Amino acid sequence: MSVLIKDVLLEGVVTSIYIEGNRIAAIGDKARVEADTTIDGRSRAAVPGFVNTHTHAAMTLLRSYADDLSLREWLEKAIWPRESKIEPEDIYWGTKLACLEMIKGGTTAFNDMYFHMDQAARAVKEMGIRAVLSEGFIDLRDPDLGQQLLKKQQAVIKKIEGVGTDRVRAALGPHAIYRVSRESLQALKELSDSKGYMIHLHLAETKREVEDCISEQGVRPVKYLEGLGVLSRQLLAAHCCWVDQEEIDLLARDGVKVANCPTSNMKFASGSLPYRAMREAGVLVSLGTDGAASNNNLDMLESMKFAGLLQKFASGDPTVAPASEVFEMATLGGARALGLDSGLLEEGRLADIALIDLRRPELNPRHDLRSLLVYSAHGNVVDTVICDGQVLMKGRKVAGEAEIVRKAAEVGRDLASRE
Ligand SMILES: [Zn+2]
Repeated sequence: MSVLIKDVLLEGVVTSIYIEGNRIAAIGDKARVEADTTIDGRSRAAVPGFVNTHTHAAMTLLRSYADDLSLREWLEKAIWPRESKIEPEDIYWGTKLACLEMIKGGTTAFNDMYFHMDQAARAVKEMGIRAVLSEGFIDLRDPDLGQQLLKKQQAVIKKIEGVGTDRVRAALGPHAIYRVSRESLQALKELSDSKGYMIHLHLAETKREVEDCISEQGVRPVKYLEGLGVLSRQLLAAHCCWVDQEEIDLLARDGVKVANCPTSNMKFASGSLPYRAMREAGVLVSLGTDGAASNNNLDMLESMKFAGLLQKFASGDPTVAPASEVFEMATLGGARALGLDSGLLEEGRLADIALIDLRRPELNPRHDLRSLLVYSAHGNVVDTVICDGQVLMKGRKVAGEAEIVRKAAEVGRDLASRE
């Protein structure tokens, strides 16, 4: 299977991109060869597919179910009671809807944590994008319950791996330090070490999490994890709004990856990630939308804008987080965080590509495309999406779209009214 994208704008030059199998085989003159599928790239720009490094895909079902609350109130009064009613089939449809929305916004890979993740794996496989999937692990700090959940976690991993595609990978998902026992965190780290699984958790999202950690454990969250031996290159920590310089240095030292989730952080007034200090320390910062119930969409272009604006607003310095850095956060940064050979359009890289429709009014005049994508555009400027060498969207059309929207809306309505 081969795809030729002809006469497309790439880094300011009109060229061609030839894809063979799931990788970019050639760019430029040598790419002008016959292919099974040819895409007219005129009036389009090729950019790497966006990588969303923190979300809860099936929370699309709870989009707009509860807004304008504090994080605790939102979770305790609205979300957790509804999540207790979720059935496996709901996750399948919620994840299908999320994948559809992500594809329509140019996202080709995401890092997800939720429940019944074997169903999410089935949905992702069908939709054609990439995902790292972790079953949310919550033992309410009861190590005995943790033991049982550890077995469950391994059983779900087996099912995720059983879907049989390289696009879907399993990871470990301890929800957050305030809902998982130290014994379980350490056991998950051991499993991560022995099997190479990534660990995905929420960390230092709110000021309260830090205060509670200090009063219960005597140290701040990152220090606490260091003490447990959990910090590593395999750890991806979402949010990290409330980390001090010593913690930033620890994250950098141990190669911990961070998912910045500015839209969700702004909506809950949680805070903002200390981006400049992290960048100076060498921490890898990627970009996540968080779930659609706290964003309320999965639009990485919109999240890029918020990432830039929040940093400027919070620091009082408009030079912080320039467009080029934010664009990299959403592409190469995400690919590196998830260990994917994508995020750049180069020969030999995975063919995960979004084509931008340059005829859109908000993309003209075009003094600086990256700046336009970060500050001016939304996901609907994406015209075509290719992931793993397969064309998933062309002319903004995705196969089966109407049925996915109809079915997910029905499931979401049913979930909201379940007794
Ligand atoms: Zn989250």
